[in-house]
Amino acid sequence: MTSDIPVNPAHDIVDVQTTDCCIVGGGPAGVVLALLLARQGIPVMLLETHKDFDRDFRGDTIHPSVMEIMQELGLSDRLLQLPHTKMHQIRMQTPQETVVMADFSHLKTSYPYITMLPQVKFLEFIIQEAQKYPNFQLVMGANVQELIESDGVIQGVRYRGGGGWHEVRAILTIGADGRHSKLRQLGGFESIETSPPMDVLWFRLPRHPEDPQGGVGRIGQGRIMAMLDRGIEWQIAYVIPKGGYHEIRTSGLPALKDSIVEIAPELSDRIEHLQDWLQIAFLSVESSFVKRWYRQGMLLIGDAAHVMSPVGGVGINYAIQDAVVAANILSKPLKNRHVGLNDLAKVQRQRELPTRIIQAFQTLIQKQIFTPILSSNRIFQPPMLLRLPILRDIPARLIGLGVFPVHVQT
Ligand SMILES: Cc1cc2nc3c(=O)[nH]c(=O)nc-3n(C[C@H](O)[C@H](O)[C@H](O)COP(=O)(O)OP(=O)(O)OC[C@H]3O[C@@H](n4cnc5c(N)ncnc54)[C@H](O)[C@@H]3O)c2cc1C
Repeated sequence: MTSDIPVNPAHDIVDVQTTDCCIVGGGPAGVVLALLLARQGIPVMLLETHKDFDRDFRGDTIHPSVMEIMQELGLSDRLLQLPHTKMHQIRMQTPQETVVMADFSHLKTSYPYITMLPQVKFLEFIIQEAQKYPNFQLVMGANVQELIESDGVIQGVRYRGGGGWHEVRAILTIGADGRHSKLRQLGGFESIETSPPMDVLWFRLPRHPEDPQGGVGRIGQGRIMAMLDRGIEWQIAYVIPKGGYHEIRTSGLPALKDSIVEIAPELSDRIEHLQDWLQIAFLSVESSFVKRWYRQGMLLIGDAAHVMSPVGGVGINYAIQDAVVAANILSKPLKNRHVGLNDLAKVQRQRELPTRIIQAFQTLIQKQIFTPILSSNRIFQPPMLLRLPILRDIPARLIGLGVFPVHVQT
């Protein structure tokens, strides 16, 4: 709907729209929250800066907890009809042995595995569901750049999109715009950063039908690599010490290729596919959390509220769990057209502890495994503790289900 609320004189505003909940960011957190609110009849507008949902080198993991949420929404069977693979264990392979780091098959769930599904397919699937509700609006190519604020209350956003500047007025604005969140910055939220000891290079190599399925961590002398099964290709994360990218670039592509083959000799027959640095994406690994996730009229969720280290690949399910908790708590206030600070604080209270626990777990793994490997040339010996089956179940639970179960309340 278009209303005649006065426009901001700083820009020529093409139109002013109103909705009840304006969600900025069409990643896992934003699309799932949009669907959950839309199915309750709440007017919701989702703004995504990109023109499509294609994501190069993003997580393709759907964890058991997310599959349970999909089941509660009646979507799990259809989701599993999309081409996917299943990862039952996370294994770590050293030159001497293979150690199981997390075994999902023991989890008490109907989905005791990680579903590997390209993120773009998952996002498109959720959007198609949301589009069944007339109260859902999606604007692609909407780059949000300003908050609308009056007397300290956030009342919506302004974005640049087709035709110029647009304004969206809303009762509640959600920042689900990821690790470099513009809304976090615009809203003046204080973020506390920790510094993981590594950065990551991402690239793809062909996967042969006879290759092992799922994902595996590979450990060589001073090197770590994670190989994720994407059907016809491996998505590979090559972990380097923090700040080490310049040195790797200076050493040259042939040296990097040699190192990859040294860790995973079976890739020698396809390493020639890496011809150019343009095929390799650099990810500066960060981890942070925002002290207070909300202010009047606005809430941050997902990576915007807590950037996750890639250890364990948990960012997607924690972002989606934020969305579910936000929908559970905020649907009623939104229907009553008044969302108070207490409601927003409740979302943070339910989600902060699990997030901080998983971040502490990631820090532990970084210190115990990543730092020793990356800082020495010794062959890594997996800690004895990892060989105890009972302890092996803890990472599987934390990664697969999260700290506390999260369910959709309808
Ligand atoms: C290379 C890489 C690999 C990863 N692998 C895994 C993995 O295997 N498993 C896992 O669980 N997690 C993984 N993660 C982390 C995971 O992708 C994130 O934790 C998760 O996507 C967070 O979801 P989100 O919805 O909060 O944010 P995002 O997925 O980052 O979505 C934010 C959205 O907001 C949009 N946006 C940003 N700014 C604006 C703006 N100003 N206006 C409008 N829209 C905007 C972005 O385009 C994006 O679509 C990986 C991350 C990276 C970078």
